[in-house]
Amino acid sequence: MNAQQTASRPRRVGVMGGTFDPIHHGHLVAASEAAATFDLDEVVFVPTGRPWQKSESRVTAAEHRYLMTVIATASNPRFTVSRVDIDRGGQTYTIDTLTDLREVYGEQTDLYFITGADALEQILSWKDADVLFSLAHFVGVSRPGHDLSGDGLPEGDLSLLQIPALAISSTDCRRRARVGLPVWYLVPDGVVQYIAKYNLYRSDIG
Ligand code: ATP
Ligand code: MG
Repeated sequence: MNAQQTASRPRRVGVMGGTFDPIHHGHLVAASEAAATFDLDEVVFVPTGRPWQKSESRVTAAEHRYLMTVIATASNPRFTVSRVDIDRGGQTYTIDTLTDLREVYGEQTDLYFITGADALEQILSWKDADVLFSLAHFVGVSRPGHDLSGDGLPEGDLSLLQIPALAISSTDCRRRARVGLPVWYLVPDGVVQYIAKYNLYRSDIG
């Protein structure tokens, strides 16, 4: 794409929603691969307030998750972090995330909502699932242990993307931190240090 085309096409912003408890390299590779594939100008990471799927379990304080996300993304000029879900408070629904980001970025911006294969499997159960697809193009990325399929989802509004397989989950990172196993190289160095500094995940209190 030449410079003129770049200037005239709508701005493309990827949206990477997650609990990020903690953020790990699986999230970062997913965002980076989607950015490269869809020529995204920016990827905004959006830490959830309280995720409705996880309301039963304890989630680390939003400010810790927000700061770890900032630390993890700081070195990439195209990566940013949004507080819309944290500042809205209450449970996070993707419909609200996308509606707020539409406001922030304006009608002229194309939004690309990036989601792993596990979350994609559940998307039809999300609040206002039909409206979601009118607010953003959806990018489903592969994740070890989950089939990547868009069955039942509107074809034109969804792309499936194979990314390098990283069998990393926040659940496993938390377990490792709790029992004293290393999280080095699973999460960015600054996040390893942040977890140690604030003693995160050492008890179930979070
Ligand atoms: P938890 O184990 O607490 O659920 P998680 O590792 O699944 O944490 P989330 O914050 O729940 O991380 O995920 C945010 C988004 O990133 C989701 O769309 C999820 O599918 C995707 N994702 C998480 N880990 C990976 C991975 N290793 N590869 C690809 N996508 C991933
Ligand atoms: Mg998850």
